[in-house]
Amino acid sequence: MKKPRRLDALIVGAGFAGLYMLHKLRQDGFTTQVVEKGSGVGGTWFWNRYPGARCDIPSIEYSYSFDAELEAEWRWSERYAAQPEILRYLEHVAERFDLRRDIALQTLVTSARWQEEEGRWLVETDGGDAYDVQFLILATGALSEPKQPDIPGLENFEGQVLHSAMWDDSADLAGKNVCHFGTGSTGIQVVGEVAKVAKRLTVFQRTPNFAVPAGNHPLPQDYLEDLLPRYPELRERARTSPLGWFHGAWEGSAKADDPEAREKRLEKAWKAGTTGLLQAYEDLLFDEESNSYAADFARRKIAELVDDPETARKLTPHGYPMGSRRLCTEVNFYEAMNRDNVALVDVREEPVVDVTARSVKAEKGEYPADVIILATGFDACVGAIKAIDIRGRDGRSIRDEWDNGPRAYLGLAVEGFPNMFTITGPGSPSVLSNVVVSIEQHVEWVARCTAHMRSAGQQVIEATAEAETAWMEHAHEVAHSTLFPRASSWYQGHTKDGRQVFMPYVGGVGAYRAKCDEVAAKGYEGFLMESSTTMRTKDAVAS
Ligand code: FAD
Ligand code: NAP
Repeated sequence: MKKPRRLDALIVGAGFAGLYMLHKLRQDGFTTQVVEKGSGVGGTWFWNRYPGARCDIPSIEYSYSFDAELEAEWRWSERYAAQPEILRYLEHVAERFDLRRDIALQTLVTSARWQEEEGRWLVETDGGDAYDVQFLILATGALSEPKQPDIPGLENFEGQVLHSAMWDDSADLAGKNVCHFGTGSTGIQVVGEVAKVAKRLTVFQRTPNFAVPAGNHPLPQDYLEDLLPRYPELRERARTSPLGWFHGAWEGSAKADDPEAREKRLEKAWKAGTTGLLQAYEDLLFDEESNSYAADFARRKIAELVDDPETARKLTPHGYPMGSRRLCTEVNFYEAMNRDNVALVDVREEPVVDVTARSVKAEKGEYPADVIILATGFDACVGAIKAIDIRGRDGRSIRDEWDNGPRAYLGLAVEGFPNMFTITGPGSPSVLSNVVVSIEQHVEWVARCTAHMRSAGQQVIEATAEAETAWMEHAHEVAHSTLFPRASSWYQGHTKDGRQVFMPYVGGVGAYRAKCDEVAAKGYEGFLMESSTTMRTKDAVAS
């Protein structure tokens, strides 16, 4: 290990969160550095280069709001920008705010140890660099640790294996036999594009998802010009809304509506794109009967869009409320399912039994493969944090601490792990919101907290066990007042003994922001702080 570099704060990750955190802390005069394992900035948008990758929240909303000049100068070309454009945007942000000089790329943080006597973290990286820092800020992403599926015989495959979240740009799928696993938001995007070029594409699906048409289109420049003066008002609306979007759900209850009016409204919502269908009535995520009207509507759409009734049957979701698993957005997915070169295998009806050098064998058939695509998702919310060997007070390991499900006060701080902040951590709205809005809120809250500590002469901050428990109980209670926990999904973490624990906070972005602001206004209620003086006093008593 090299001699540790001494800084005020180390930020792990150079996605939307890490870049803004760096800018904010530098503005406040802290010495700081970002470390990023990738060879470029951008996080999600650096790694997920698969064909069809794009956001599904309109780009004018899914972008930073902290700088009016940045907003004014950047022109999105489409309603939902594709991955290369979002990556260009983040690279532009890195240049514009001169962030690169404080970003170490291709550097993986492997461990972090709390140094009790100093009240600081010792952080180590794979290249042997070390950092001695007051604050450790984990901007490691809620969807950044790719999940490798358990497919029997995969190790025997001699063709190319591509994971969507580690996509190799040079992969050429034209004229190839492709076997594809996963039909979540990612898989649905991949299939729509790969079907157009592959010789034969076999899609292995485990759980069918609801998918709505994206309704993507180019953005006329005059539209952006006209919108610009309204940005401040719209951004403020997003910050105080339930999901971090400009517009909230349409008023009313689906079950209370007249059937004809309901059908018309659902049709309009379907055409509005992406999450529109979930916004058709304000009770869709709370009331099972209301939800069933929207879900049945979406099921009828699948039957209309997919020609072969057997394929449509396999693609039709049942057994969970619509929206309780992430609603997907499709561009050419159902269209792809109608192509002669595409086949769908339901692995629950026909399990995969083996992978050979050039094929995937399922119970009822063998499917040729030059390439296998894994769009099998992420170890969500906790994976990237648990991948680091983090030891807090008394050597406590975050991996062990979260064995019974993750816990964090406000999704921001963990008891036993002082001076460590998690951006969009478990227990925060994060992945159940427009994530950029949630990131900005977290970054600004952390910056306010660190600035407060400096001016108040405080050295150490730590969430109390009581505040953390109360927050997790509240988050659990709110989740169980909705339909979200009715599905098995990646929103749910697992305890050691297999129990499901709902991870994001569903109480709403606006309500959550108000709570965080209140905590700060009350002198960081639920946290304990120690000044360097109290630390010295303790040391003196101990010695
Ligand atoms: P990330 O962008 O994931 O960045 C985290 C970074 O930390 C990564 O670059 C990673 O390499 C790095 N890192 C992690 N661990 C370490 C370590 N130990 N050492 C060094 N570096 C490390 N959200 C929306 O709101 N709307 C969307 O439309 C949307 N679309 C998405 C599409 C895809 C394909 C995916 C996967 C996610 C999407 N999301 C979307 C969620 C998306 O992850 C967030 O919106 C946002 O980009 C997260 O930013 P972040 O900075 O928090 O994390
Ligand atoms: P995901 O939603 O977790 O989907 C993973 C898929 O892989 C699921 O269909 C899963 O089936 C399947 N799978 C896993 N192991 C399998 C196996 N052994 N055999 C067959 N299938 C298997 O992951 P994701 O699609 O990458 O999306 C994650 C999140 O990222 C999204 O929910 C969203 O928040 C974000 N995202 C957004 C966009 C966008 O449009 N903006 C695009 C991509 C991602 P089961 O469901 O049965 O587990």
